[in-house]
Amino acid sequence: MLPDHVANQIAAGEVVQRPASVVKELTENAVDAGATEINLIVKDAGRALIQVIDNGAGMTVTDLRLAFERHATSKIRTTEDIFQIHTKGFRGEALASIAAVAQVEAISKKNSDELGNKLIIEGGTVRDQLPVAAPDGTSLSVKNLFYNVPARRNFLKSNQVELRHIQDEFLRVALAHEQISFKFFHNDAEVYILKAGNFKQRIVQVFGRKIESQLVPISEETEIVKINGFVGKPESAKKQRGEQYFFVNQRFIKSNYLHKAITDAFENLLPNQYVPSYFLFLEIDPSKIDINIHPTKTEIKFEDEYAIYAVLRSAVKHSLGQFNIAPSLDFDQNPDWAFIPSRPQNQSVKVPEIKVDRNYNPFDSKPTQKEIRPMTDLYQSFSEFEIENYHPQTLLSKEEFEFAELNVFQWQNKYLVTQHKGELLVIDQNRAHQLVLFENFKRSGSGNALSQRLLFPTEIPLSETEMNALKNFELDLVKFGFDLEFGTKEISVTAIPTDVQNEQIPAIFSDFLNELEIHDKISFETEISKIIAKNSAIKKGESLLPEQAKHLAQQLLQLDEPNFSPYGKPIFVQISETEITKKLS
Ligand code: ADP
Ligand code: MG
Repeated sequence: MLPDHVANQIAAGEVVQRPASVVKELTENAVDAGATEINLIVKDAGRALIQVIDNGAGMTVTDLRLAFERHATSKIRTTEDIFQIHTKGFRGEALASIAAVAQVEAISKKNSDELGNKLIIEGGTVRDQLPVAAPDGTSLSVKNLFYNVPARRNFLKSNQVELRHIQDEFLRVALAHEQISFKFFHNDAEVYILKAGNFKQRIVQVFGRKIESQLVPISEETEIVKINGFVGKPESAKKQRGEQYFFVNQRFIKSNYLHKAITDAFENLLPNQYVPSYFLFLEIDPSKIDINIHPTKTEIKFEDEYAIYAVLRSAVKHSLGQFNIAPSLDFDQNPDWAFIPSRPQNQSVKVPEIKVDRNYNPFDSKPTQKEIRPMTDLYQSFSEFEIENYHPQTLLSKEEFEFAELNVFQWQNKYLVTQHKGELLVIDQNRAHQLVLFENFKRSGSGNALSQRLLFPTEIPLSETEMNALKNFELDLVKFGFDLEFGTKEISVTAIPTDVQNEQIPAIFSDFLNELEIHDKISFETEISKIIAKNSAIKKGESLLPEQAKHLAQQLLQLDEPNFSPYGKPIFVQISETEITKKLS
């Protein structure tokens, strides 16, 4: 059994990575407590003080004590409750973790109580507790973060960087709760004063007046998801990522996948590499999502990922069209704007005729990349449906419809077998995954990659030359989600992209160094992506769950160019019925 203070410090490593994590946890607690006013006071970029004052429900003296125990939460009781989460928190870990690595002073008073209570905890040990006069609500002060974990305190970045992170976390909560007033002070200077209002007003208060004329409203309601919010007009798009906000059930999330739905909707409206801004609220039945997969909960899993993608993309496309931003969009003329209506119950689907290209050979040196995509035949057969059967609620583009229905099985723990365009496809799982990861990394490498902080950093011994070579690329690596600390004879890798496993780090860095030795300058986005993809892809011989196999095949077939791995090897073999008939004759 680990002593409590050790267990809490370890848990703290996951929850409290930097001052910004404390800001996130405390402001979310204030929101969960039903506050209508939340004040954030920060000193010295959070090193000296992070204080959150709310006018929410407050805590009784017993609850105030309990709140700092590990796994103490008032927000869920049973495992089933996890599927019905309407609060920001539910793990009951934040306060215990924060108190383990800081000096905390908590004052809380319930509206129904005469007096409030004050609790002082240092490094997880209660120092003092006493009744005090206090306003309704809670004030939590976190002083000298990591005072007892010098290694962590030393790892904090410059004040400017830490403050930037604090501001990001603050805005994610403030944007998601426009009906709450927020104030944020740093070193006694006002940073944000946000009055309660509607969502548009909140965006304007945060980003300034000039954004107002740039916002195109989005609104769509379907059975699986309700979408509201704004996207920026194409001319307001920027070259780097910046104002991209997805909120699912009022929780900020990161999703490369949904991001792609938006950029897809902007297709042809933006020059390459420009990223549209967006502020979108998705409301989804909590039982259809899993917010549990990431300790800091910015990633979630959706049960209906494909459908949400499709609805989101169409909603954005639709608004861009409606607001005359993309006047060329037209239901009848633009084949891009092709929806498949939900299948009518009493009508069977006419089997599409498939033209088989007998000359198609995936090993050809000049790949006919688009070969695998067009499904015009399928679409035409659907367009014969009567207009009454057109349910805009269940919009799926032709690709999504097609891929959602895929039947995939794994064979020999090496291949995924499925059918596509009337042919049998045998997909090399390793190469397929390499390509899927490669495309993802390439995309996220140009913006904020999702990163996970390591509890135990991996150390890699390096020569001086290697060290210098890597130093020049530190920033590029950071963009991909790595975080490095340079020692004298080694580097420690303290954070890695979420798709990468701990064990793969040494191999990945050894490949980086090899590449740097050969070329002495890596064309980073491509080469880094290749190397990470190669090392983290599902290996040959790895057995996959049926959903994993299906998901991988779907991801592959949705790519514009699914034919070759990042290293130029063919990914799949196609076998036509003719070939099989021939063998059977
Ligand atoms: P979680 O939010 O996951 O429940 P926390 O450790 O953040 O866990 O908080 C523990 C408990 O303390 C919460 O469930 C809540 O009951 C109480 N609590 C924390 N902050 C506040 C607050 N600002 N106002 C009222 N209650 C609070
Ligand atoms: Mg909490």
